[in-house]
Amino acid sequence: MSRVLVVGSVAFDSVETPFGQVEEALGGSALYFSNSASHFAGVDLVAVVGEDFPEEPIEKLKAKGVDTSGLYRAEGETFRWKGKYGYDLDDPDTLDTQLNVFGDFSPDLPDDYRDSEFVFLANIAPELQMEVLDQVDDPKFVALDTMNFWIDSKRDELVEALERVDMLVINESEARQLADDANIVQAADTIREMGPQMLAIKRGEYGALVFTPEGKFFAPAYPLEEVYDPTGAGDTFAGGLIGYLAGRGEVSETRIRQASVIGGVMASFCVEEFSLGGLDGLTDEMIARRFEKFERLVDFKTIDTLEE
Ligand code: AMP
Repeated sequence: MSRVLVVGSVAFDSVETPFGQVEEALGGSALYFSNSASHFAGVDLVAVVGEDFPEEPIEKLKAKGVDTSGLYRAEGETFRWKGKYGYDLDDPDTLDTQLNVFGDFSPDLPDDYRDSEFVFLANIAPELQMEVLDQVDDPKFVALDTMNFWIDSKRDELVEALERVDMLVINESEARQLADDANIVQAADTIREMGPQMLAIKRGEYGALVFTPEGKFFAPAYPLEEVYDPTGAGDTFAGGLIGYLAGRGEVSETRIRQASVIGGVMASFCVEEFSLGGLDGLTDEMIARRFEKFERLVDFKTIDTLEE
């Protein structure tokens, strides 16, 4: 079983949805990813927190098999993000982003991270994503996530980073923005010309469209009765997807399809509670049961045998 190396944000999030709000709750792309991926593979986390970040969540990560020797503590304040969602719980409005300790973070990776085979460059500044990649000798699979904030402010750096990755994990609206094309299939073609041969386009409550070297695959999202907070769903999806691939140690068409569904399963838990609440206390058995629900959701071959 391979491990997966992740670099991304560890944050305090203030989030408002029509169903409630939280102030300075735990969040950040790398934290959601690590919590999700740790169910399938060991995780090596590279990020930075400020002096104001508590020890307890770090201890919890360690207990889940996350190596935190690449999680640095710097002078200053932890990254903060503030967002607000409308009724459709689609793309949030970012009200505030404070990079704080990420502003001049330049990690020196622990030596034993250099031979990482699976790497996830979670949503963070593209220069930082590249700096981490520079320190990995010969990765087998590199995936990258990004967002409108970086497409707007660091487009050139992002395009440079994309040349070096195998898969881009991105929201539908951001794929359109990056490719400057309203049609998602054409946008995917344009993005593939930039570098990544695989794409996972996240479509919120409508699942994800995954472009593989052999074609397209639709990974559903589960129609849940209660959705409170979509923050982190994308990173949790990526954690399931890449964690599963690392756990299996291979990147075949079959594995990518299975991994994409696992990503959807993990994201479905994330959105049921605010912050990391939906991923806390999650057991492998709960994951397996939700996976079966996904299978039934899209099983049209044996429909006659399904009970009501
Ligand atoms: P997601 O909902 O999966 O797209 O990601 C939400 C997470 O991304 C939140 O926990 C934020 O802390 C984090 N985030 C928001 N903006 C940024 C940014 N510009 N760079 C890195 N992480 C961010």
